[in-house]
Amino acid sequence: MQSINIVWLKRDLRLTDHQPLQHALEQDLPVILLYVFEPLLLNDPHYSERHWRFVSHSLVDMNQQLAPYGGKVSILRGEILSCFKAIQSLYSIANIYSHQEIGLSCTYQRDKQVAHWTQAHNIPWIESPQGAVIRGAKNRKEWDKHWDRIMRAPIAHLDLNANWLTLEHLKDYTLTLPKHWLKKAKGQQTGGTTLAWKTLDDFFQRRGKEYYRSISSPSASRYACTRLSPYLAWGNISLRELYQQLLGHWQVKGFRRSLVALSSRLHWHCHFIQKFESESAMEYRCVNQAYDALLSQSCLSDRDKLNAWKQGQTGIPLIDACMRCLHHTGYINFRMRAMLVSFLTHHMNMDWREGVTHLAQLFLDFEPGIHYPQFQMQAGVTGTNTIRIYNPTKQAQEHDSEGVFIKQWLPELKHVPTPLLFEPWKMTQMEAVMYQIELDSCYLSPIIDLATRAKEARDRLWSWRKLDQVKQESQRILQRHVRLDDHN
Ligand SMILES: Cc1cc2nc3c(=O)[nH]c(=O)nc-3n(C[C@H](O)[C@H](O)[C@H](O)COP(=O)(O)OP(=O)(O)OC[C@H]3O[C@@H](n4cnc5c(N)ncnc54)[C@H](O)[C@@H]3O)c2cc1C
Repeated sequence: MQSINIVWLKRDLRLTDHQPLQHALEQDLPVILLYVFEPLLLNDPHYSERHWRFVSHSLVDMNQQLAPYGGKVSILRGEILSCFKAIQSLYSIANIYSHQEIGLSCTYQRDKQVAHWTQAHNIPWIESPQGAVIRGAKNRKEWDKHWDRIMRAPIAHLDLNANWLTLEHLKDYTLTLPKHWLKKAKGQQTGGTTLAWKTLDDFFQRRGKEYYRSISSPSASRYACTRLSPYLAWGNISLRELYQQLLGHWQVKGFRRSLVALSSRLHWHCHFIQKFESESAMEYRCVNQAYDALLSQSCLSDRDKLNAWKQGQTGIPLIDACMRCLHHTGYINFRMRAMLVSFLTHHMNMDWREGVTHLAQLFLDFEPGIHYPQFQMQAGVTGTNTIRIYNPTKQAQEHDSEGVFIKQWLPELKHVPTPLLFEPWKMTQMEAVMYQIELDSCYLSPIIDLATRAKEARDRLWSWRKLDQVKQESQRILQRHVRLDDHN
């Protein structure tokens, strides 16, 4: 039987700065580049078609780069163990190489099964770290130094002249990418390393100087932020590649303030994923476990209101504009994401778990390790972060002062002038007729009263903060998750 090496691709869909691929290419054996669409994830509520479309584009891009070398990614559909078993019936698997996956509990369970199977069959499964995330870290001692070391390490340039092997004859598993995954989605970013680098170049050529002052605006951020999040989440570009480009532009006139802000965020990227790695149960429960009982006693449950939030029909203009924009484009900036969660959990007083998979499905850049810690932080259930209740009216006045973003996504309000646009429920019946608002519109009677609900949320959240059980849990969290280098 022919001996082969497998590179199992997951959220690392690129051909550069790729340690598993590098390991495989260093050996004198045929290499199979494998991507498997697993029903485990295809059916998972965190994912939606937009993610598989992005992955499909990424694979097509990889295949275009591999073509001159006679290589091709083998694309299968099936549970990973069945696929490995099918490959094993045809070849002797010498090694499986992959990146460590800091994923959902379903992929953790799947990885345990893979580890069991590979051990039972004496197949070494060699996993490389994902960015600067340390598997099994007990605390954050020296973590920032580690981040720096990893991000400044040389990038290996891989020689793709290799003995590639494909699995097209594995008929029961081979997947021809469906047409609807290959089609570009209007308004959404398209996957692939080529576009990742184009986006990055464009940031340094044109957009980046505005980054630091545009980051909070729902419209301007779409232009001035890097927009690399889906490319990082699906691994079309590595964080190290991005960071080294940042360092290369450090001295470029006009960029410094933007690059200082961006550099912090690249640290946060791994910092949050590290939190999730160290405490993955936060997929199900509050980081600060004392909040679980508090939420179950106090949170409201109202399907209609939850659906109004999900569909952008709450009657609060900026909330609805953000949600509808997400449905259409898969992207909004950090502040607007935080505001959507704040509105759901604070103003609507709903459990964060009611909305967490909905936003995951909509975010093209869904990354479990950032999404869960951020979601809980904005929901105010960590006990360690400052509580922020974003006022959507104030956010609109400050960051969409002309109402451009709101009018783009809520055409029904296009005739309403500012400042009434930010609080349309204050208009008189005559104004409603004049601005062509239907009299049963949610903008004349939103699902909640903002001021009353904000006050209730403030009282509730601050009284919880004072509870002994919350404080005790907060101490444990600080010891585990706070980066310690600064205090040495
Ligand atoms: C509730 C909530 C959920 C989120 N879920 C995700 C998610 O699933 N995937 C995701 O990539 N980001 C998530 N974020 C973080 C942030 O909003 C996005 O990373 C950012 O808006 C992406 O746009 P950009 O690439 O243009 O960012 P830029 O500002 O250009 O930043 C560059 C990169 O730095 C990282 N980054 C930026 N801000 C943060 C942050 N606050 N925390 C951690 N890393 C950051 C991202 O990888 C980002 O691509 C979430 C934020 C909130 C409040």
